[in-house]
Amino acid sequence: MCGQCCVGFGGTYVTHQDIERISDFIQGDPKDFISRYCDITGAGPVLTQGPDDRCIFFDEHKQCTIHPVKPRMCRAWPFLKTVVNHPENWDAMASACPGMVPSVPHADLVRIVAAHIQKRGF
Ligand code: SF4
Repeated sequence: MCGQCCVGFGGTYVTHQDIERISDFIQGDPKDFISRYCDITGAGPVLTQGPDDRCIFFDEHKQCTIHPVKPRMCRAWPFLKTVVNHPENWDAMASACPGMVPSVPHADLVRIVAAHIQKRGF
């Protein structure tokens, strides 16, 4: 709930399923979603930022306005596949996230994150 992971460019990738779910929630047309709410990167669309450098869905009350349907990446954080494949990413993520403990042994990280992914299905 601190909103630190909602700051900065290029952080939040959205899948086709995310777009469908969010569009349904905000009663928007999924065909317009990318042009209205995303920037395009080499790895796909990411949620764009508002003038305060935060995700466009982060409001002035410091809340995610699409919390029930927020993108899979937001729901999974910080237990992401990238940590299993590249555990060194954990420390980079932890440098910006006050909820993460840095310098966890890589073998422990891989085991814990992989178990989390398996349990949650993503
Ligand atoms: S969708 Fe919600 S949780 Fe995800 S970055 Fe945007 S405001 Fe934060």
